[in-house]
Amino acid sequence: MPESPRWCIMAVHAHPDDEVISTGGTFLRYAEEGQRTVLVCATAGEEGEIHDPDLVEEEARPRLGEIRTRELQCAAQTLKIGTLEMLGYRDSGMAGTPANENPDCFHQADLDEATAKLVRLIRRYRPEILISYNAFGGYGHPDHIKAHQITKAAFERAADPSFAPTPELSPWQPVKLYETAIPREAMVRWLEIARQQDPNAFANRNSEDWSPEKLGTPEAEITTVIDTRRYQEARIAALRCHRTQIPEDSFFLKPLPDGAPQDLFSYEHFVRVRSLVKAPEREDDLLAGL
Ligand SMILES: [Zn+2]
Repeated sequence: MPESPRWCIMAVHAHPDDEVISTGGTFLRYAEEGQRTVLVCATAGEEGEIHDPDLVEEEARPRLGEIRTRELQCAAQTLKIGTLEMLGYRDSGMAGTPANENPDCFHQADLDEATAKLVRLIRRYRPEILISYNAFGGYGHPDHIKAHQITKAAFERAADPSFAPTPELSPWQPVKLYETAIPREAMVRWLEIARQQDPNAFANRNSEDWSPEKLGTPEAEITTVIDTRRYQEARIAALRCHRTQIPEDSFFLKPLPDGAPQDLFSYEHFVRVRSLVKAPEREDDLLAGL
């Protein structure tokens, strides 16, 4: 048995499956190192298409949040995540859809109130490392943008005893704040090669929304690269837990085409946006400098 964990890493995600896509290997690495890992998921993913061929849309739709919470529990177990916490908001759906107006959705939540919920979890688990998305939420989804906003605010406010007072929990200051990233140059090469091999690859994606300029971060801005090659099998198994979201023919489950930059999914990339300790400009460990 590993000794009691020294450090705690907390990732704040928007929906079930986001935890695997950008941080699955990172969760596995730090679990294996014996650190405590906490996944905070803001919504239960009640919106979006249902891809599980064994489910009937009309029957599954009303209980989709429940189904996806179970899928998330499966993935969390596969990623050896120490603790899963749900913030309890409703999925806001893609930008511009009617779900954005639902008063229970994360997008409509009061920023201070939602930040206070996260601050309470930070004071309880006392993470040194906080991870979420960039200001664009990675790809513009309102729930991802909101996750970014509350994580950034919580990093600054969890140590302030006057913000959202928690008499039973002491204030806590995380040390480093990270945003997940896709390396832009690698994404450009991957899309080129995928389209050469199959001109219809990603044909169902809106090319403007699916552009490396929007989704990718210039490699020069990426501070932190985590080698997750040895965790790929478990990562794929965790993706398969998300049956209603990741169909068997998803590109997430296929090997990358020959010649594509293999580091796109076998390494995980981050931008360190805040650090209260001196850490190397380029690091291969979220805990560097602690
Ligand atoms: Zn998401």
